[in-house]
Amino acid sequence: MMNQTVPPAVIARLKRAVGDDGWSDDSERLAPKLVEWRDRWRGNTPLLLLPRSTEEVARLVTICAESGVAITPQGGNTGLVGGQIPDGEVLLSTERLRAVRDVDPADNVMVLEAGVTLAQAHETALAVERRFPLDLASEGSATIGGVISTNAGGTAVLRYGSARGLVIGLEAVLPSGEIWNGLRRLRKDNTGYDLKQWLIGAEGTLGVVTAAALKLFPILTSRAVAFVGVESPKKAAELLQVAKSTTGEDIEAFELVSGFGMALATRHLPGLRNPLENRPPWYVLVELASARAGAAEAGLETLLGEALAQGLITDAAIAQNEAQAKAFWAIREGQSAAQKPEGPAWKHDVSVPLSRVASFLEQATVALRSRFPGVRVDAFGHMGDGNIHYDVLAPEGGDPAQHMADREAGSRLVHDLVVSLGGSISAEHGLGTMKTAEAARYKSSVEINAMRSVRAALDPGRIMNPRVLF
Ligand SMILES: Cc1cc2nc3c(=O)[nH]c(=O)nc-3n(C[C@H](O)[C@H](O)[C@H](O)COP(=O)(O)OP(=O)(O)OC[C@H]3O[C@@H](n4cnc5c(N)ncnc54)[C@H](O)[C@@H]3O)c2cc1C
Repeated sequence: MMNQTVPPAVIARLKRAVGDDGWSDDSERLAPKLVEWRDRWRGNTPLLLLPRSTEEVARLVTICAESGVAITPQGGNTGLVGGQIPDGEVLLSTERLRAVRDVDPADNVMVLEAGVTLAQAHETALAVERRFPLDLASEGSATIGGVISTNAGGTAVLRYGSARGLVIGLEAVLPSGEIWNGLRRLRKDNTGYDLKQWLIGAEGTLGVVTAAALKLFPILTSRAVAFVGVESPKKAAELLQVAKSTTGEDIEAFELVSGFGMALATRHLPGLRNPLENRPPWYVLVELASARAGAAEAGLETLLGEALAQGLITDAAIAQNEAQAKAFWAIREGQSAAQKPEGPAWKHDVSVPLSRVASFLEQATVALRSRFPGVRVDAFGHMGDGNIHYDVLAPEGGDPAQHMADREAGSRLVHDLVVSLGGSISAEHGLGTMKTAEAARYKSSVEINAMRSVRAALDPGRIMNPRVLF
């Protein structure tokens, strides 16, 4: 199915199905959709399809199913594992599926079409004084269909869970071209297999998500943000336990930044400065939020007092206003951008049980440095979820090409360690075309065969994103 040639007669049928303004083969129009955010993949497609409705998506998928023509679905093109970049397949973009179908604060549900961006979803919720708590740095471009198809996580998973927990109903076009209307708004529905959960995280392999019913939550007006210094990730893990016991439900984010990552952010990102003067080896960005006035601020003070008394933190800076809170977050969210001027990195998006994060970080760095002397590790991320972005840069002044030639061996070492600690080699970005083969090394044949059976049952012609997943 890779690099297939789509017969001209099928191209003509697809064009007719969406009308003159529903497709493009103009190279300039296509260009931004064929390159991945980090410029790691460049793709090609004979045709970009731009359906305006679920019915149009269904017509297009039906034609492809009848003709055995493969489809790559694409939302905001912010995915980091290459799954949205076509290699000869027709490219089905959701950019015109942008309707807000319903917002219902009484049921705490909003129904959005797949191409609505995450930022628009946040605004839609805010307009009825509610919150949609899926927070990613890519929110300006990432779409509802994309975040659902990758089961995206982000910075508020600790409190609200990943996309999987925020979807209450789904509408999709299955690989047969049939429309499945599962836009239910039920908090309880035990009537057999939960089809929506199959599509969530399926990375476009089980159909095209066209709309979703999403859970809304109260806006939390009391917020407090701090950067604290810790001597080690072990102390950070202990701090999280204290935070959970002293603040209960109010802990919203618990993000790790290394001393090296802080130095990169303040060196390469304009306007940012280190909030802690004593330059600790590790930092944690803590955010508390509450619906009770003043509760987050008071909770943070109690937490920091307790943590200092127990010797868990070395220092702390509390954001005094919104601008400072944003600057703190910019340090955390700018970690990837701050690495770029230092050359290419081996990127890992891994998770281990929380109790093993410190052990993972220590063991991985020791093992890597003994095999690749001088490599620089920028480990950061969602410590509260046991999810670390473990990025490895070349030694200072090292050869970037040699570093990337060593990537496979280095990543194998990291992934073997992660799996030996009971972890996952892809915590939140998915497998895409980048990690599918690697994941096959670690998953049991029982699990892979079950996945293949589900896929073959729904998509016998394997037309949906054929190069992605098993
Ligand atoms: C700066 C930055 C920060 C990020 N931070 C995070 C983070 O904190 N947590 C996290 O989890 N991810 C993060 N990501 C990754 C990315 O933003 C998310 O994976 C996002 O969910 C992708 O949404 P998208 O609309 O861009 O999807 P795309 O990139 O267009 O597609 C991603 C996958 O979903 C499929 N797909 C897209 N739309 C549909 C649809 N309607 N139906 C079926 N399949 C579909 C595609 O085929 C592809 O396999 C980040 C990315 C960037 C660039």
